[in-house]
Amino acid sequence: MKNPITVVPWNGHKAAASFTFDDAYESHVTNLAPLLDSLGVKATCFLTGDSYYFNHNIEKFRAMAANGLEMGNHTETHPKLTQLSDADRKREILGYKEYLKKNMPGLPFNVFGTPYCDNNEEVQKIIGQEHYISRDCRGYGRITWEKEPNWLSMDSKAWQRSLNTVEEFCQIARDTNDAGEWIIYMNHGVDLDKNNDYSIDPEDLKAIIQQAIDLDMWIAPFGTVGAYHRASFALQHASVSENEDSYKIRWKFPHAKMPKSIPIRIALDFDGTIEQQDKELSPNEDGSYTIEFGKRELDVLK
Ligand SMILES: [Zn+2]
Repeated sequence: MKNPITVVPWNGHKAAASFTFDDAYESHVTNLAPLLDSLGVKATCFLTGDSYYFNHNIEKFRAMAANGLEMGNHTETHPKLTQLSDADRKREILGYKEYLKKNMPGLPFNVFGTPYCDNNEEVQKIIGQEHYISRDCRGYGRITWEKEPNWLSMDSKAWQRSLNTVEEFCQIARDTNDAGEWIIYMNHGVDLDKNNDYSIDPEDLKAIIQQAIDLDMWIAPFGTVGAYHRASFALQHASVSENEDSYKIRWKFPHAKMPKSIPIRIALDFDGTIEQQDKELSPNEDGSYTIEFGKRELDVLK
């Protein structure tokens, strides 16, 4: 049975960009958070107990989360996970998630970032028990819409002062936009410390984010874009049954730890109406509909 709905890529934008920041630096509180606020953009922070600053300032990261930034799990001691025993991996990945949930109540901690992007199937098996998506950094950081990626080994593009330039990272945004893809940027500190090869000047970061804004990319946290993208594959593989005057479409959650609510833009093949749980949806300005993936079914009335 042909599925009469298709998911609109990247929430109605031509392309998407996610900015991720690792290791819970003080500069995330002092420089990054105000910069993101001034630009009206939300990003992802990957937290680790390896940060002395984080361990003593958890409330400051709680405040950033309350302001809409995504908080992800980046392990307790920032080890190379492939080199640990299974028991130690579980402590670093699952144990630290428990710690984060306890100390930052109300947050799901269902997204993960691998320290040093060190990852393999054994590691993914454990990450996947409690996280629906995980970020590595082995290549160009660009994700295509059509091909389903390995959700537990998502590529990203890492910034290094000695290797990268603002112009290069702006060009990556333009290329990603032209290709209709999703770019995942990886950063560490946001400061002027020239001795830290992995930190980025706030003005440089601002210029890169501004480029993504000017391109009208969908700029959203890693887990937000990831959930939308992952849900799109579930909708593609939904079960469709046709009655005389309607279609019933049902789907499953592809991972138990995905957000309970994922708004998804869909397009309809023909001129019909869409209902979810007997409530008719009104179309968006562009003719698409925003459905709630969490409801697991919808009806299309012919
Ligand atoms: Zn790290």
